Amino acid sequence: MSSSLRSSFFRHVAQTAPEPDGFEVSRGQGVYLYDLEGKPFIDCISGIAVSSLGHGHPKITAAIKAQLDLHLHTSVYGEHVQQPQIALAEKLASLLPDPLDCTYFTNSGAEAVEGALKLARKYTSRYEIVACRQAYHGSTAGAESLRSDLDHIAAARPLVPGIRHITFNVTDDLSTITENTAAVIIEPVQGEAGAIVPDTGYLKALRDRCDQTGTMLILDEIQTGMGRTGSLWAFEQEGVVPDILLLAKALGGGLPLGAFISSRDKMHVLSHNPILGHLTTFGGHPLSCAASLAAIEIILEEHLPENAAKQGKRIKDQLKDHPAIREVRGRGLMMAIELKDPNRLLSAVKDCRQEGLLVDWFLFNDRSLRLAPPLIISDEEVEMVCTKISRALKTK
Ligand code: PLP
Repeated sequence: MSSSLRSSFFRHVAQTAPEPDGFEVSRGQGVYLYDLEGKPFIDCISGIAVSSLGHGHPKITAAIKAQLDLHLHTSVYGEHVQQPQIALAEKLASLLPDPLDCTYFTNSGAEAVEGALKLARKYTSRYEIVACRQAYHGSTAGAESLRSDLDHIAAARPLVPGIRHITFNVTDDLSTITENTAAVIIEPVQGEAGAIVPDTGYLKALRDRCDQTGTMLILDEIQTGMGRTGSLWAFEQEGVVPDILLLAKALGGGLPLGAFISSRDKMHVLSHNPILGHLTTFGGHPLSCAASLAAIEIILEEHLPENAAKQGKRIKDQLKDHPAIREVRGRGLMMAIELKDPNRLLSAVKDCRQEGLLVDWFLFNDRSLRLAPPLIISDEEVEMVCTKISRALKTK
């Protein structure tokens, strides 16, 4: 990168990370990102589970260009009848079990979380929300209030009130969900905690407890959705259906798009008493919806959930016995590589970079590398990823 570009990056683009990744992107193609010198890097981050179809997929580009020639934004959310938005809402309804047939489109994941919390409180006329420790649901005020790490919530005070925490996979905690609880919000595989998979039956027990107490179950599939865990929706592997489903990240095919999805009768509470119970200007932007629809078609046509399951297993099998690795965890291509020596974490990210591989770390797990490659990754590319990781983790 030219030094002036780098200094402008630090001077004029607001930063919140002490040491931003600083990868200098020139272009992307397939699973590769290229730096300014044209050097290729295998992208095993995917913009944190966003670029599931890799970079520059021709069908996504074509869908965006076709919509670009028709129209961009025309009106605030829900006023105009826009073809890409309707086609996408219909498609989602066709791919989801009953009663998930009604979508409210947002710009981002956090905005979907906010909408879902409002919907649950309004629908149940209850106040309390239960969230999991070590979950991340976004950085807006309501989503941030769901966090359990004290540093963050201390700095964010006053928090949105009425939030309590349980620990993921601790079945005993479920008894604290009561007739006062409006909703439980949970990720089907905990992302920022380090790709923590639910124990067998845990989410089913949670669903049962919610049914007993009339509590709504909000599943945050913002990272897990769209095929990443080996099925189109992670909840399919758990035998549960949420009352509200949250999507974002890969939903937009690389453009900004989020959604909270529920049943028509539940969504009804946002349009009555008072009217206009939730508003957004850009949510469900026609370009994002056109890209999303194309992305879903590709995911289905190219059997990408199946590829995610297959390639995730191959990576696990190839790396699990590496002397520097304690465990390879996760589901599908939402993976964590836990190192035996946590002090190696940051240098391991850098050593992978030297090998031409982009990997990352997690917000709440200081001993694991994040691996979230595009779901289109091939057998040969997985071989290269495993070779590069093995070399990067060699004892020095
Ligand atoms: N929920 C989960 C599980 C996430 O991983 C994230 C972002 O990382 C969010 C919500 C927030 O999404 P966004 O960054 O689009 O607001």
